[in-house]
Amino acid sequence: MLEEEQLINKLTHSLSTIESEASLFQLKASYLGKSGVMQQYNEQLKNLKPEEKKEFGQKLNILKQVISGLFEEKLQAIVQQEINQKLSQSAYDTSLRAEFIRAKRHQGGYHPLTLVKREMEDLFYAMGFSILDGPFVEDEFHNFTALNIPADHPARDMQDTFWFSDKIHCLRTHASPIEIRAMQDLTPPFKFIAPAKVFRNEEIDASHEAAFHQIEGMVIDKNIGVQHMLYFLNTLVQEILGKETKTRLRSGFFPFVEPGFELDVSCHLCHGAGCSFCKDSGWIEFCGCGLTHPNVLIAGGLDPSEWSGFAFGLGWDRFAMIRYGIEDIRHIQGADLRFSTQFRSY
Ligand SMILES: [Zn+2]
Repeated sequence: MLEEEQLINKLTHSLSTIESEASLFQLKASYLGKSGVMQQYNEQLKNLKPEEKKEFGQKLNILKQVISGLFEEKLQAIVQQEINQKLSQSAYDTSLRAEFIRAKRHQGGYHPLTLVKREMEDLFYAMGFSILDGPFVEDEFHNFTALNIPADHPARDMQDTFWFSDKIHCLRTHASPIEIRAMQDLTPPFKFIAPAKVFRNEEIDASHEAAFHQIEGMVIDKNIGVQHMLYFLNTLVQEILGKETKTRLRSGFFPFVEPGFELDVSCHLCHGAGCSFCKDSGWIEFCGCGLTHPNVLIAGGLDPSEWSGFAFGLGWDRFAMIRYGIEDIRHIQGADLRFSTQFRSY
């Protein structure tokens, strides 16, 4: 009846000539499919006498298992062969050393503004400050009036401010409006820093850009004094510019603080001897600061008899220039890869 051996020999031979999954499935159908060899045996089974059926059925099952096993084995072999072939054709050489790949590739780096911002955010976040920002387009109230800047102040002039045609809205000229928004939105006591892009209608030269960056900081609490302000500013200078950096406080005028100060740091390029960066003074203006003016507290919705605070604003671009010894502010926004790749960090 069954010629099992011949059948299996024939199949083994056919399988040895097969190289693709498609032809394997074709062959499989001719053995195990609806009109395949095994189906013909099943037809024979129907016509047998009952006593013959059992033996024939058992043989048929074993044969079916053997055939299925052979097909499964061949399929695994084809899949493995395809994987090996793909690996051998791969464009990647996984044995190359990482340094070699890096040297062949143009790689970007973090911008110095980002680096100095991260350093500052890490430092102030660790001291319990929030990190805030506000809208680019401000209204006259938040940008000027609430900050105690009088209506006739020259900063409002067309030369300094990008006004919108309604004469009420402008591109924020400084980061200080964020102070007003914070006082309106947060419940005191609070403290925050706010890295912000700001805009001035200015002539562009080595130290001025029409769009530049500031970092504002503010602390609102009870009984705040100049000593608290100095503590945080000295910590900032020491931690980011280095322990050897000296500071000095001069009186300065800003409408939104009273008293107001300017904090200078010793020049990092000449270490106080005098150079073109510090205009031979040995000192660099670092930030404006002071105790928050009562009018500003009121504009922010706080009672000056209950709450007090200090604020500081520093040129973020300038900070990066000091931190990394950059001499021209135009490099900061120049998008020159020769410049930015110097700050690459792996
Ligand atoms: Zn200098």
